[in-house]
Amino acid sequence: MAYDDGNIFAKILRGEIPCQKLYEDEFVLAFPDIRPQAPIHVLVVPKGKYVSIADFGAKASPEEITGFWRAVSHVARQLGVEESGYRLICNAGPDSHQEVPHFHAHILGGRALGHLLA
Ligand code: 5GP
Repeated sequence: MAYDDGNIFAKILRGEIPCQKLYEDEFVLAFPDIRPQAPIHVLVVPKGKYVSIADFGAKASPEEITGFWRAVSHVARQLGVEESGYRLICNAGPDSHQEVPHFHAHILGGRALGHLLA
């Protein structure tokens, strides 16, 4: 699938749609999900244009990939869930109900989460 510059995260990254910036560096922007599924539900979005995790893995530079995952763990620490624990979710494609075609990770925490992933 080709990257669509009109997706909602592209608009947020360009500053066309507001978000509550929780963390930003050269590689990522992190902000709360608009429809939180847990007391803490934060999205970590790479600044590069990648549709999916496969796209990200294939096309992003090693610096971008390292920067992204370092930022994810940094944001979890900043949110105070490193000790209590959290779940990372990266939806990929129709069966996962990926809604926004710009690769991103969800950080979910702030309560005991269910055992099952599906
Ligand atoms: P996906 O299903 O693609 O993995 O997750 C996309 C997430 O983006 C959803 O959880 C949805 O609630 C969130 N989302 C969609 N539009 C917006 C928006 O305009 N602002 C924010 N902060 N989150 C959004």
